[in-house]
Amino acid sequence: MSAVGEFELIRNYFAAIGRDGSGSVRLGVGDDCAIIAPPSERELVISIDTMVEGTHFLPGTAPAQIATRIMGAALSDLAAMGAQPAFFTLALTLPESNSDWLQSFSAALADMAKRYGVQLVGGDTTRGPLTISIQVHGWCHRGKALRRDGAKPGDRIFVTGTLGDSRGGLESIQQPQSTGYNHHYLHQRFFEPEPRLDTGQIIAEFATSAIDVSDGLLADLDHILQGSGVGAMINLDELPISEALHHWAGEKTSRDWALRGGEDFELCFTVPAMLEPKLNWALREHNVAVTCIGQISAEPGILLVDDGHVSAVEPQGYNHFPG
Ligand code: ADP
Ligand code: MG
Repeated sequence: MSAVGEFELIRNYFAAIGRDGSGSVRLGVGDDCAIIAPPSERELVISIDTMVEGTHFLPGTAPAQIATRIMGAALSDLAAMGAQPAFFTLALTLPESNSDWLQSFSAALADMAKRYGVQLVGGDTTRGPLTISIQVHGWCHRGKALRRDGAKPGDRIFVTGTLGDSRGGLESIQQPQSTGYNHHYLHQRFFEPEPRLDTGQIIAEFATSAIDVSDGLLADLDHILQGSGVGAMINLDELPISEALHHWAGEKTSRDWALRGGEDFELCFTVPAMLEPKLNWALREHNVAVTCIGQISAEPGILLVDDGHVSAVEPQGYNHFPG
């Protein structure tokens, strides 16, 4: 391991992540501020995510895995707004400047930036307990961003991909004897969440509300319900659950993780029933599964339908400061 100075660190590992990407960046890393020229008829949407060693990941987690998780989580918020990613800033607090760590972290970050078309335009570097913040910025067509407050009674509720895998991955990582294809898949779902950016931009045309599943489906859906002043009915049989999770955890546990496990970074969104055919047409060549899991109702609260039996459920999710 060798140590590098602050300015060398920025130049060697991070400045290059800003070299290709979106056309709106006039000036990137290196000056006091970045300069951005917003495209006309667009609105800027902004979100920040922080990960702290010991809170969001275990000490000793591979730097590439930290990079893919935080970048996936941050970009997922842009996806949930229906935004096109544009650029990001990075605040790094490091206990030491370890070149091996920086090399792996910055390489994984650069891969993600390239794959999703975001340019690193600045940041801050300080010494202290390992903490990483990424602020992402994206563009939405004026007035078209997907918010949490637009769901109406009768709207259908959809989710992308499969739910519960990330929680399955986390549980599986904690059991060293968990190997083989299913575990590999679940670990990947935990460490490399795929922000549903394309889906978000497609559904922006049709959706009345959207959120990304970070705290758990019930907890995040509840944000939509509270924001929109409505309730929901969810069909348990319709919950999309991967083969890998079902095979490993069984039906009862995988359903529980699908409802309450966090960090899947799938989208949950609502669409008026009348627009469902249009949505299906728009998604006809889309390579991400989109599943209808229920519908919005006028009465507040969440009802679960299990094989014809209806029961009310409390939305709970992860809370850093439980009251
Ligand atoms: P200032 O002291 O003016 O805030 P800094 O010396 O902290 O500037 O940073 C110099 C330049 O490097 C700035 O353009 C800043 O945005 C960028 N920068 C600093 N840290 C990072 C980082 N971790 N990743 C990307 N850019 C960074
Ligand atoms: Mg500074």
